[in-house]
Amino acid sequence: MNVAEHADAAIERMRALGVSPTPENFMVWYHYHAGTYPDLRHTLDILLRNRQAFTETRCAEIHAKFFAAEAEPEGAIEASEHLGEQIDRVLSFLKEAEGDTSAFGKALAIGHRRIEQATGAEELKRTISGILSATRQMESRNATLEKQLTASSQEVDKLRIDLEAMRHEAQTDALTGIANRKVFDASLRTAADESMETGDELSLLMIDIDHFKKFNDTYGHQTGDQVLKVLAQVLVGSVKGQDTAARYGGEEFGIVLPATPLRAAKIVGETIRRKVVGKTLINRKTGEKLGKLSVSIGAGRYEAGEPIGKLVARADACLYAAKRRGRDQVVGQDDLTVEEALAAEGV
Ligand code: GH3
Ligand code: MG
Ligand code: MG
Repeated sequence: MNVAEHADAAIERMRALGVSPTPENFMVWYHYHAGTYPDLRHTLDILLRNRQAFTETRCAEIHAKFFAAEAEPEGAIEASEHLGEQIDRVLSFLKEAEGDTSAFGKALAIGHRRIEQATGAEELKRTISGILSATRQMESRNATLEKQLTASSQEVDKLRIDLEAMRHEAQTDALTGIANRKVFDASLRTAADESMETGDELSLLMIDIDHFKKFNDTYGHQTGDQVLKVLAQVLVGSVKGQDTAARYGGEEFGIVLPATPLRAAKIVGETIRRKVVGKTLINRKTGEKLGKLSVSIGAGRYEAGEPIGKLVARADACLYAAKRRGRDQVVGQDDLTVEEALAAEGV
């Protein structure tokens, strides 16, 4: 088929399914017919096979999942969750059908046995042989159906694993394996909303490695990368359940601390600072002892209703005050001088 034929087929299909004729939906169905993306085709085939309705929301989710690279992280995660629910439904339908099939097979076997036990004439023999052959046919149909169902169910399982891996990848920083910037932004936004609802204090720590450029220059970028991983583990190990430790970018990290007063957040920061500076770093390959590592930390408190960016900027201003004051220390927004506080507010 050529491009025009794929396009015709897409339009025809959209009309048949009652999908609104938007450019986004056309893109989805064009690529479905052209077979450009096996994953897209696979997903739509499963939905089609199960006669799922292509509502506006579902169409938008499909488009976002396969084409919107810059989609809001929350949107993308939500879409994959919906698809996950969908798959669960298909899976339970398949399991049910599998159950029915084997129950039917068992019922036939019982009937078969009963007839065999009956005493009787020529007539009965013929009936028995008829039932036997029907049973055999049924058994072979059952076996085929079961095979098909198992294959479908494996397909769906695989899709679910792929989806889970995709979701994990989208939320993880590739180098350190901890939450990435997208998760940081989303967690901070959610935590701010919750803080406004509950009145609980929300705090934020911004953490930056001291003189990291020099560290890289001295020991090499690869060793620097190893250090980032070590630091990420220190951060993750220093926070609890609802907190989010994430790589903010480069050698800067952020920790969202919901339901945590500034005073408590500064204590978390101080614990981290001490753990880091107390570490003896050794290059695994060469056995070489590396110089001391330290971090500077800024701690900010969310003011109800302010834009999230303002909180990040204030915690960052505290971080840079910590750098100015000699590094390897924690500075909270309540430790800023009047001049520093005004500068942090952009005044
Ligand atoms: P300061 O104490 O003021 O923060 O000094 P600094 O040298 O850490 O600050 P600067 O911002 O000048 O340099 C940051 C360095 O972090 C530059 C870059 O080489 C290093 N860096 C950023 N991202 C990575 C990374 O992914 N891997 C490695 N190895 N280094 C990185
Ligand atoms: Mg930096
Ligand atoms: Mg630095």
